[in-house]
Amino acid sequence: MKRSNVRCPVCGQLNEGLDLEETEGWAECCKCKVVFMAPSYARQSFNQKLPLVNLPDHAVKAVKA
Ligand SMILES: [Zn+2]
Repeated sequence: MKRSNVRCPVCGQLNEGLDLEETEGWAECCKCKVVFMAPSYARQSFNQKLPLVNLPDHAVKAVKA
């Protein structure tokens, strides 16, 4: 299993030992609890520009509704 260290785009905290393969690139900051996609995965998954910080599930649903 591959573990990665990913720096939080919001607060700069280094989140160590994350299993990004399990979460398909998503990580939760251990300090500020924001959920974001690791930049290396974001580049792999999308060709278009997307915000690194994702909205909470309920907010996304509200936007789509
Ligand atoms: Zn953070």
